[in-house]
Amino acid sequence: MATLATPLKIAPATLAKLAKIGIHHRADLLLHLPLRYEDETHLTPIAQALPGETVQVQGEVTHCEVMFRPRRTLVCRIRQGKEELTLRFLNFYPGQQKQLAVGKQIRAVGEVRGGFFGLEMVHPKCKAVDDETPLPQSLSPVYPTTAGLSQTVLRKLINNALESIPLSDTLPAPLLERLQLADFGDSLRLLHNPTPDISAATLGKRSHSAWRRIKFDELLAQQLSMRVHHRERSKRLAPALPAHDKLTHALLKKLPFQLTGAQQKVWREIAHDLTQSHPMQRLLLGDVGSGKTIVAALAALQAIENGYQVAFMAPTEILAEQHYLKLHEWLAPLGIEPVWLSGSLKKKAKTEAAARISSGDTLLAIGTHALFQKDVEFHKLGLAIIDEQHKFGVQQRLALRNKGKEPHQLMMSATPIPRTLAMSYYADLDVSVIDELPPGRTPIVTKLVSDARREEVFERVRQACLKGRQAYWVCPLIDESEALQLQTALDTHATLSEIFPELRIGLAHGKLGSEEKAATMAAFKAGELQLLVATTVIEVGVDVPNASLMVIDHAERMGLAQLHQLRGRVGRGAAESMCVLLFQQPLSELARERLRVIYENTDGFVIAQQDLQLRGPGELLGARQSGVAMLRFADISEDEELLDTAREIADELLREHPDAARAHLHRWMANKHDFLQV
Ligand code: ADP
Ligand code: MG
Repeated sequence: MATLATPLKIAPATLAKLAKIGIHHRADLLLHLPLRYEDETHLTPIAQALPGETVQVQGEVTHCEVMFRPRRTLVCRIRQGKEELTLRFLNFYPGQQKQLAVGKQIRAVGEVRGGFFGLEMVHPKCKAVDDETPLPQSLSPVYPTTAGLSQTVLRKLINNALESIPLSDTLPAPLLERLQLADFGDSLRLLHNPTPDISAATLGKRSHSAWRRIKFDELLAQQLSMRVHHRERSKRLAPALPAHDKLTHALLKKLPFQLTGAQQKVWREIAHDLTQSHPMQRLLLGDVGSGKTIVAALAALQAIENGYQVAFMAPTEILAEQHYLKLHEWLAPLGIEPVWLSGSLKKKAKTEAAARISSGDTLLAIGTHALFQKDVEFHKLGLAIIDEQHKFGVQQRLALRNKGKEPHQLMMSATPIPRTLAMSYYADLDVSVIDELPPGRTPIVTKLVSDARREEVFERVRQACLKGRQAYWVCPLIDESEALQLQTALDTHATLSEIFPELRIGLAHGKLGSEEKAATMAAFKAGELQLLVATTVIEVGVDVPNASLMVIDHAERMGLAQLHQLRGRVGRGAAESMCVLLFQQPLSELARERLRVIYENTDGFVIAQQDLQLRGPGELLGARQSGVAMLRFADISEDEELLDTAREIADELLREHPDAARAHLHRWMANKHDFLQV
């Protein structure tokens, strides 16, 4: 691809600035599209300019001086007829003062404000003119830029690229006609240089046909690249693990419950994938409490039946430990002893565990990401199970894949992913969904309680515990400082111990040693502790069916997904459960909206959909976003219909016009190495 400098002789300083905004090649300039447009096609008489409006005015400079109070400011007045307007500049350079000399005609664009001395504009865009200077015929694009790179320079570079790079369409003409899509080159030219007939309102809203074409192309490129990944994967080799149905059936027979229909369905999908000789990469989605662990255990057994090893990884020690205990309970009777490995194990224990893994002495290893450190070498890894996969980065996924040959991968997540997100960002994975909860659960009652009524909440906790139930008290989230977070947990524990002298109260937080943590969780599970004060370390996976009350302190600080996960820790048994969201006034608009959503909904998918609308895809995707090119133009919560079309067309293109697909990917993805690697 042509570099920027070759034909244009751009100064290195400018090149560095362009790189800062993601422009590395000349072709990148084409897709550097305006953020918005300014309408400078007409003048507003100063007499008609209203505060709050962005307008273009013209007048003669009557006064220009640098003032020093309250700080260095260039103040200038322009007059048109009898009307005057003040222009104010806090940052300015000497040339500007000359440009605004008394007697000059000035055109200024900016937002009008009612100042102390009448109407004014702060930092208007100014231009010296005379009576002959024509007005622009069309809208002026405003590009995303960085300090020191002016709109004028960017515009020049972009227009130069528009003229010198062929803008041939990547998509076949009949397809464009069928989908009623505008031509690619025309669309780009129009977005960079709008014609006079287009208003700022239409182009600004991005519903214009030119925007539609660009958004479609972007979504299509994303779909194509995901498909290509998917295909490449089916060319790689993994051990085929046919079902022998010995261990799996033995486990199913021993369970105190029957699999739900949804669990059976996803289990069939996974069992089938494992029989294939190319690596499975399946995402198992199921709301909190839907019963993903048993499905993972079955998958593990199918690999083990074939003599292959299984690694089962969870993002926190508490969760990994819990999986260890659960799987030990289920599988030890079948003669399978899992090995435990976490970062906080003593050196000797760690070495021992690693040795059992590398010798093939154990077929099942459970732990945190310590399982995939350099010093752990699997003898014959056939399947990697990753719980709460959104908590892991793409890099960790890669590390895992590169170990040994290539294991099958089962990723699990309780963060429900809205349909559009699953279809766009997860399109390279196969997805199974458990869309049904095990029977016999009683719905959780959610209560919103202002902090002013804290006393009543204490009483509720006391009553629940005295009745033989157990409760969680989740400490406030403190983002800024881990130390502060820990202190808050300690303080909360101390305060609650004073308030409830009659209760046995435990404390779980991220800084506890792993033995201490395990002992606390075991005591809570056994009912020895009645109240567990905890930080959000219990957010994922913790399963104590007798716990039926949860209080979340300062719930307004938490995100929707987090609140949903936390709330999912109760309502796991038959007892009626309650989640109290304690909040502190005053609430911000966003916090109020989040609390409303969590109060009104229990379905994780509905909550995730609302979360997507409140926050956008970046945060929902969590760690995954670091390796994925985010969409720049399309918006998956608004462009769902375009996304659907792009999905269909991606398949069609790969099937019938592979050259077009290649050209399209090249135009949109040539730069995105990370993206193609994942
Ligand atoms: P999650 O999907 O959140 O990981 P778990 O696997 O921890 O859920 O399961 C939640 C609880 O439901 C566990 O106590 C588990 O033993 C139980 N469970 C799982 N499947 C069923 C079922 N089909 N019937 C009844 N209980 C089940
Ligand atoms: Mg789980």
